[in-house]
Amino acid sequence: SFHRILKEEIEQGEHLGLGTRTNIYAGVLKTKSEDEDDFGGYGTSQEVRVVLKVLGSGHRDISLAFFETASMMRQVSHKHIALLYGVCVHHQENIMVEEFVQFGPLDLFMRRQTTPLSTSWKFQVAKQLASALSYLEDKKLVHGYVCAKNILLARDGLESEGGPFIKLSDPGIPITVLTREECVDRIPWIAPECVQDTANLSVAADKWGFGTTLWEICYNGEIPLKDKKLTEKERFYAAQCQLATPDCQELAKLMTHCMTYDPHQRPFFRAIVRDIDMVEKQNPSIKPVPTLEVD
Ligand code: ATP
Ligand code: MG
Repeated sequence: SFHRILKEEIEQGEHLGLGTRTNIYAGVLKTKSEDEDDFGGYGTSQEVRVVLKVLGSGHRDISLAFFETASMMRQVSHKHIALLYGVCVHHQENIMVEEFVQFGPLDLFMRRQTTPLSTSWKFQVAKQLASALSYLEDKKLVHGYVCAKNILLARDGLESEGGPFIKLSDPGIPITVLTREECVDRIPWIAPECVQDTANLSVAADKWGFGTTLWEICYNGEIPLKDKKLTEKERFYAAQCQLATPDCQELAKLMTHCMTYDPHQRPFFRAIVRDIDMVEKQNPSIKPVPTLEVD
């Protein structure tokens, strides 16, 4: 159910970091097409910058779970979701080949800023994320790890050239194969019902994760519950605690609505997109200057 990429087609570059059980590298994908390409040519080759997510040979037991993520990502096509080119299986390694997104993860980007990001900027990011998740909701697809780290910036939108442009990245290894500790460590992104039992993972869990991500956006990429130990994190959910309420009232309201402990009480993404639209219309200072959208 996913495109198979040959080892010869990829070139591994610099190490970018560690994911959960994965190593991330920059790379190049060389595509040679036998078929007619977009420009009407045949047998042309193209090179695209990609990111290689390598699941090492020590983790063959979770390769099926890794393929699950790849197959979910292959089923989607949305301007605010990172493109998955396919998977390369080579010797004992499984490699996910994903579109390289220029400005990297949102959390790091926000933390790097020295001048405050505008409310309008934050609203655009929130709306683009909600639209991507609304698309997944319509397709009944679960992402499973919505967080600022998994949002990539294709355009930073700082010099007023059309605002930010985000792409939601893959969720990595599904939580169903994580250890109890790894799940608890994902508090407050992982939904409370999933800490109880990862089989409870559903679209509703992505709503909770969206709420936590709104918190990160409001607080400029700060890490929620940063200094809390695992046991304290567990207690946080057990006592049904809430994160601090951000200053931005409209986003705070959405955030609390999404972070309802009862999964059934969380709003539809379709309604969230509508809400954000409405707030923008009512607040001219938030509404971005209309520009052409690029893909
Ligand atoms: P996790 O399961 O934790 O999400 P992951 O494999 O998705 O694991 P990340 O932590 O999201 O790994 O990514 C590691 C680092 O690699 C990021 O901090 C970022 O710098 C870089 N990176 C990941 N994906 C991309 C991408 N598509 N474009 C550019 N950089 C990326
Ligand atoms: Mg990731």
